[in-house]
Amino acid sequence: MSSELNTFLGELNEAQRAPVVHKEGPLMVIAGAGSGKTRVLTYRIAHLMKQGIDPFNILALTFTNKAAREMKARIEQLVGGAEAKNLWMGTFHSVFARLLRFDGQKLGYPSNFTIYDTQDSQRLIASIIKEMGLDKDVYKYKQVQSRISAYKNSLITVKAYLQNPELMEADAMARRPRMGEIYQNYVDRCFKAGAMDFDDLLLRTNELLSRFPDVLMKYQDRFRYILVDEYQDTNHSQYLIVRALADRYHNICVVGDDAQSIYSFRGANISNILNFQRDYDDAAVYRLEQNYRSTKNIVNAANSIIANNKDQLKKVVWTANEEGPKIKLHRSPTDADEGRYVAGSIFENTMQLQLKHSDFAVLYRTNSQSRSIEDALRKRDIPYRIYGGVSFYQRKEIKDLLSYLRLIINPKDEEALKRVINFPARGIGQTTVDKLTVAANHYKRSVFEIMENLDKVELKINSGTKSKLEDFVNMIKSFEILNGESDAFTVAEHVAKKTGILMEFKKDGTPEGIARMENIEELLNGIQDFVEGQKELADAKGDLTEFLEDVALATDLDNEKGDKNRVALMTIHLAKGLEFPYVYIVGLEEDLFPSAMSMNTRSELEEERRLFYVALTRAEKQAYLTYTQNRYRWGKLIDAEPSRFIEEIDESFIEDLTPKDNYRFKPLINTDIFGEATPSRGTRTQPQKNKLQSLGKARSSELKKLRRLKPNLGTPSTPGAEINLDVSEGTTVNHSRFGRGTVLKIEGTGVDKKAEVRFERGEVKKLLLRFAKLEVL
Ligand code: ATP
Ligand code: MG
Repeated sequence: MSSELNTFLGELNEAQRAPVVHKEGPLMVIAGAGSGKTRVLTYRIAHLMKQGIDPFNILALTFTNKAAREMKARIEQLVGGAEAKNLWMGTFHSVFARLLRFDGQKLGYPSNFTIYDTQDSQRLIASIIKEMGLDKDVYKYKQVQSRISAYKNSLITVKAYLQNPELMEADAMARRPRMGEIYQNYVDRCFKAGAMDFDDLLLRTNELLSRFPDVLMKYQDRFRYILVDEYQDTNHSQYLIVRALADRYHNICVVGDDAQSIYSFRGANISNILNFQRDYDDAAVYRLEQNYRSTKNIVNAANSIIANNKDQLKKVVWTANEEGPKIKLHRSPTDADEGRYVAGSIFENTMQLQLKHSDFAVLYRTNSQSRSIEDALRKRDIPYRIYGGVSFYQRKEIKDLLSYLRLIINPKDEEALKRVINFPARGIGQTTVDKLTVAANHYKRSVFEIMENLDKVELKINSGTKSKLEDFVNMIKSFEILNGESDAFTVAEHVAKKTGILMEFKKDGTPEGIARMENIEELLNGIQDFVEGQKELADAKGDLTEFLEDVALATDLDNEKGDKNRVALMTIHLAKGLEFPYVYIVGLEEDLFPSAMSMNTRSELEEERRLFYVALTRAEKQAYLTYTQNRYRWGKLIDAEPSRFIEEIDESFIEDLTPKDNYRFKPLINTDIFGEATPSRGTRTQPQKNKLQSLGKARSSELKKLRRLKPNLGTPSTPGAEINLDVSEGTTVNHSRFGRGTVLKIEGTGVDKKAEVRFERGEVKKLLLRFAKLEVL
């Protein structure tokens, strides 16, 4: 061991070293956040390579492709040389997409199959629902898509669905008795288009491995060593793939933390961890207890939170790191104030402590919360980057160009074809596209094939349209020829020019058009970059197919473009596995975090708590928890109550920074301190102001909703609310600022009640009674 200690193994503690040097056979590392699980995985791979294991025989599955790249880079440093490039490493989706390129033909897929992203799937489902003449308000395409996705991840094929009365009944109960048909049509259409959706990448891999023993054997032999990070969040489909591949050699190493399992809504199954020992009865289980990431205060606070969960494997997490400052708690009157507080605090910290912007992360429960934070950061000129919003590759102009590229590789790709058949406009209308789709369904061919054979099919379209369709087909074919002899960049640039896309945006001339053109340029740069990068890889060509796959499977964390010194804004789900010196967890309010959708059962609530545990344990030096008193939700302003999670933290680890007067009752920001119902802040946009006008109504329905969820909520905790509800027309009242007046009119009821008052000084004002401090004379 002593000679090993002189190598990189010396960079591990003893508990970590044991799983790293563990010889053959299954092993599992179960340990709390920041204890070095990912490090163990990385070092174990390096160690295997040092022992002479061929990197071609090692498969590592990570949560993001970025994590895989970083791991590879680290391994390269540890072992020296470029051998690490040959490791199979990446997310489940990217690794198995690659496998399906080699062997998917056995299932009838072309090796150049397209990967449909969620947007493509949803568009296809929407069009199927339309074609079937179903009510789109009952068959909501997003819901239908997520149902189908759930089936696939549980390995419920169409056939299995149709043999499962319970499932069918559940859908019928949800007024969707024709789910089975939609599912069938969707699967057929994807297949005909030579396309797989994200879930197919796992489902078809399972199918391939179970139906073709020779293929299974080949990959079992190839992947003699399998390693999985974040094992607690693998779904059933992923679990089965791993189990099948490891079935021959049993050299499987998984690391995870049950306390960080946060994807059950996507079918992740915490029992995978518990089943590991059942599946492999010779499995070695290692535990790590020392946290290297965070201060004592953060580690202990996180422990005190997770202790509230009943469902958990008991673990010890401690740290030798410094005590650190206490966790800072701050309450703001509104979400806009919360944004300003966070931006101000980041600003001060960067100045006082000479920190980089990239030392900070702001984490939230849902994407929509980013807006108020962004506004405040922009006002202070603090650069930031949002992860998980509309990704670069989802932008319209980018998807348009990519759709042309997809068509070159796979002309059957129906979603790509529909996007660009008439963009830029070339006089091919929706009616023509509909006719083509019907014909394609009838002849069981792709739309493109119908277009190639217009003379052979029965189709009522005029000769002008016909020749336009032929021109389009010929253009795509000319691109195909170019693609055969040029690299991805040359092809993409040619396509951008030749199709007229670039011209379209240039002509536009508006700032938006210019921005779109710049994005296309950015995409072309990206392709150039990619082509260069691929040259280094042993088994890569740098062609269009590889590029498109890279794009289709890029998780949002992967596309780090431009200046890296920025504050990171992301949902907690995306932050899993990452670490930042300073972390702000915002919106710690009941019904937001924990989410109103996740309070129905203990297990849902426990998952929210695990999410909070994940959030807090991202912080290295300092964590801030913020919440507000009033917040816009669904465009309405509501009272917010502090999250129960704040109370659950042992208070000895918390310091409350809320200025005393923030605790006094303050009216909603959109009423002034005198209770006027109209907005007075100049910073609000017109749509917001419009919303504020209808505030009263909105607020009441919101409160009703809240009360339904929490029957004990009672009436809002607003001083004076009940008393003031008594006034009626003709009542003489006194207002602290406007003086005496007479009520002219009463509008609304209950907490929405407004009074129009003519004051003796001459003004007529409309007051929201629950806020206006009126005295009845
Ligand atoms: P999570 O549960 O959040 O995924 P993890 O268990 O995977 O966390 P790592 O990310 O591997 O933990 O490690 C946390 C931090 O501690 C990293 O910055 C890592 O480099 C550091 N670290 C881990 N072990 C050691 C060690 N023995 N010596 C020094 N630093 C370490
Ligand atoms: Mg990790």
